[in-house]
Amino acid sequence: MTLRKSIHLEPQTGTGLIVRRGEYLKIIDPKGEQVSDLTSFAHEDKSEWLSSGRTIDYANTIYLTTGHTLYSNRSRPMWTIVDDTAGRHDFLLTPCSPETFSIIYGTKGHHPSCFENLGTNLAQFGIEPDAIPTTLNVFMNVQVKDDGKIVIEPPSSHAGDYLLLRAEMDLIVGVTACSAELSNNGTFKPIDVELHSAHPAESQSQNDVADRPSA
Ligand SMILES: [Zn+2]
Repeated sequence: MTLRKSIHLEPQTGTGLIVRRGEYLKIIDPKGEQVSDLTSFAHEDKSEWLSSGRTIDYANTIYLTTGHTLYSNRSRPMWTIVDDTAGRHDFLLTPCSPETFSIIYGTKGHHPSCFENLGTNLAQFGIEPDAIPTTLNVFMNVQVKDDGKIVIEPPSSHAGDYLLLRAEMDLIVGVTACSAELSNNGTFKPIDVELHSAHPAESQSQNDVADRPSA
């Protein structure tokens, strides 16, 4: 049994947790078409953070998947993507924030957001909202057209799809179930997060807690 912690994120919520080097984080889309924003900071020095720019630079692609390394702003590996059943994620766009909704969508009043949920859940680790960088938007389907225009399409993820990451250093981690209508095909769904002490498939052949019935 590799499962150390299981967190069920209700729609439009988030969580913060510590992930140690060598542990595995599994982000699961239990119902399909639901984005989950991920960010992380080095446990030993919070001014080292997960960098979209460095990661895309070294991967030579904006479409990150199995085998790719996710780098920090100091060009050190933070994560390795070891499995990916969805195949499409975004690392270009920022986490949705209160201003995302007021500026782009003209929303009046409070709207839940990944930025707020990350800030709330990372505060316990001493991380200020201004430190939250561009997130890895797991399951987010952003298409870049030939003319450079960016189009947000419904996630390609189906019920039970997951992204499995191995931590390459001790990390402070924030994860959400995204709050933006446009990113999630109009409805808000939960996200399941699992923390494993080792690769779940390699040590759980009999009792794989990640298995879920398909939709
Ligand atoms: Zn969001």
